[in-house]
Amino acid sequence: MGRRKKRKKVVPKVVKRLPKIFLCPNCGRQSLSIAMTPIEGSDYSEAVARCGECGLCIKVVVPKLYQPVDAYGKVIDIFESFEGDIEEAISRNECIGGGANTNEPGESGEVPP
Ligand SMILES: [Zn+2]
Repeated sequence: MGRRKKRKKVVPKVVKRLPKIFLCPNCGRQSLSIAMTPIEGSDYSEAVARCGECGLCIKVVVPKLYQPVDAYGKVIDIFESFEGDIEEAISRNECIGGGANTNEPGESGEVPP
């Protein structure tokens, strides 16, 4: 009786607005947005970087505590090491990177813990 305990606390979180729009490595414009999606049941998030100008799309799996700005570094890595045809991937609306075929950790010692 009496006081009802509310489980759900609504804590106004002060979310620091970190930049989410970055310089696109393909077209050089400031229109690359990075969306982070936590992967359920893991400590990782999938970051999808998409450019609103040229349509570039790069997917990368990063530790959950990464911010978009951290993922951006990975995105650049993938872009620079991508050996396929970027333009073709864009024209087919495909994302490069991601876990599909480039999921080989331990190449440069940058394995997430
Ligand atoms: Zn672009």
